[in-house]
Amino acid sequence: MRWYARHGRDLPWRRTRDPYAILVSETMLQQTQVARVLDYYPRFLARYPTVEDLAAASPSAVRETWEGLGYYRRAVNLRRSARLVAERHGGRFPADLAALQRLPGIGRYTAGAVATFAFGQDAPILDTNAARVLARVFGGGRRRGRTRRLWALAEATIPPGRGYDFNQAIMDLGALICRARRPTCPVCPVRRACGSFGRVAGMPK
Ligand code: SF4
Repeated sequence: MRWYARHGRDLPWRRTRDPYAILVSETMLQQTQVARVLDYYPRFLARYPTVEDLAAASPSAVRETWEGLGYYRRAVNLRRSARLVAERHGGRFPADLAALQRLPGIGRYTAGAVATFAFGQDAPILDTNAARVLARVFGGGRRRGRTRRLWALAEATIPPGRGYDFNQAIMDLGALICRARRPTCPVCPVRRACGSFGRVAGMPK
């Protein structure tokens, strides 16, 4: 987390605690690179600044705004979630993990991200970056049950009350240092605790 405080990425969705804006960013990031989302995220929010605005929009208008991002199903689910939040929750997102996961298109990761980044909870998240870091530091173990073990690790490693910083830090560590190819282990802030230090193919000497 000290490394993250100095080197973490300055991303627009990290400047808000609005669950709607965070859900928009997380939905876009599901299958799209950060660089591309940086382009679409402000445009989408300028057109639909609140959950009510998106709930009231027509499917064709939302499709037009989403055009170019691909995987349009994400936009369909985002709009359906907005309608449910507007109609059933009075426009206020539920903070509860189980209630979040009942919204269309929101799985365990996205629910954890909204709970953590909007509501400050210590909910675990496990995107590909966090999963790679945890698997390398602690060992991924056998394939069977691997995802369940990594989720348990993601939950157990959060320092109490620091879910926001910890989850952002581990994702940035995976994106910037512990990359899939050529991780830069010699400058990694967790290298002394890492079971894979010096063993990952492509690591610079
Ligand atoms: S030491 Fe290397 S393998 Fe371990 S977490 Fe850091 S970058 Fe990843």
